[in-house]
Formats: sequence, structure tokens, C-alpha cells
Amino acid sequence: MIKCEMHLHTKGGSYCGQSLPQEIAREYFDAGYKAIVVTNHYMKSLFDSYYTQRTEKQKIKYYISLYKEVKKYCGQYGINVFLGLELNPDCMNTPTVSPAAEFLCYGVTEDFLFSNLRLYNLSQQQLYELFEKNNIIMMQSHPFRNYCVLGNPEYMHGVEVYNGHPTQQNNNNKSEQFAEKHRLKGISGSDYHARGGIGGGIYLPQNINMDYELVNYIKSNKLKLIKGNS
Ligand SMILES: [Zn+2]
Ligand SMILES: [Zn+2]
Repeated sequence: MIKCEMHLHTKGGSYCGQSLPQEIAREYFDAGYKAIVVTNHYMKSLFDSYYTQRTEKQKIKYYISLYKEVKKYCGQYGINVFLGLELNPDCMNTPTVSPAAEFLCYGVTEDFLFSNLRLYNLSQQQLYELFEKNNIIMMQSHPFRNYCVLGNPEYMHGVEVYNGHPTQQNNNNKSEQFAEKHRLKGISGSDYHARGGIGGGIYLPQNINMDYELVNYIKSNKLKLIKGNS
């Protein structure tokens, strides 16, 4: 089995991402990881004011280029890289909290993103139905982080039961109980934003190379989670 990061942000994707792709490649190589899913924030406020490209398609192109950069540098270290999202449905935000609810999405293709613009405008249920048709899975990230809003368990494929962010109050034990209660798949991710931030992920068989293989594996197997950096 190999170690796979399920939750990672890069510099340029959002205000919070601090590490360059070449730094990420080196750090994950040193930590013994062989796979990473890039899950930059996908939210309305970033698309409206942080990304400077003119059209929505150009913004998607830029968003994907961040993943491609990680893929390029990680390739030199034999680390496989997948495209994912950390998606914030805008309607779930409150006047004071944004992002209030976010979903880690796996199985996302470049074509899918270009042909389904402004995903942040859809409701949780609409996203779930769209993803079901496209073999994409959505799992709520850190649902019990102190400022977060809990999504409807009927319209998600799973929950991030372990979020390794070093400074946020994630209440991971509550996420675990929530997943158990609703029979939802549990995953783990570092929520990597900066150097020293590796502390989560899942174990994968070595032969998973395509996004759909990643999705199928997550759907049909009991996952072994990485919790902490030991
Ligand atoms: Zn972030
Ligand atoms: Zn995150």
C-alpha cells in the first residue's frame, strides 16, 4: 500500500495556500507519500475577486494549472497526482461565515470542470445529483470545525473524519460519530496549507493511477486512514 494525501492547497489557489509545487513535491517525497489529490478551494469569492483572469473558462484553466504544476514536480519524485476540489456551495454560507460548508470532491476531470462552470452556485443536493451522474464523490470536509455548518447526510458520499490542520478546532471525534450514524464513508486528509502541514491521508493500493480508479477504490473498500504524521 502507498500513502495518499487527500486534502491539499497550493500557493496561488487561495490566500491561505503557502507552498509552491516544487516545495510540496519535495516535502511529500521526504514524508514517504506516493500520491496526492490537489484540492484547492473552489468558491465564489475566489473566482469573483482573487483569480484575475477575465472569463470563467480562463479562471478554470488557471485553477487546473495549479494542479498541473504539482503534477509536473511530483512526477520527478514518482508521486502520482490527482485533480480534486474543496468546493463551497455559496448558498450554504452565512452572512458572517464563508466558507461555512465545504466538500472534498474526487474523480473530477478537466472536461467536467470546463463543461460545468460555477459549481459554487449549485445547492448541495444539485451537486450530489450532478456528481452521481459523473462518477464524482463529495465528502464534507471538517464538518464539525467550530465555525462550520453541517450538510445534509443524504447528499454526500462521505465525511472527512480526520482533518489534520494543525491550528483549527476540527472536533474530529464528532465527525467520526456522524459518519458512523449515517453510514457514510470516512476519509482523512492533512488540509495541507504550508510547510510542516502533513498529517493525514489514506492508504491506497499501488496500482491506482486514474481518477476513476481512485473513486472506485474509495467507494468499494474499507479505507485505512493516516492520522497524524507518525
Ligand atoms: Zn484553506
Ligand atoms: Zn482545506
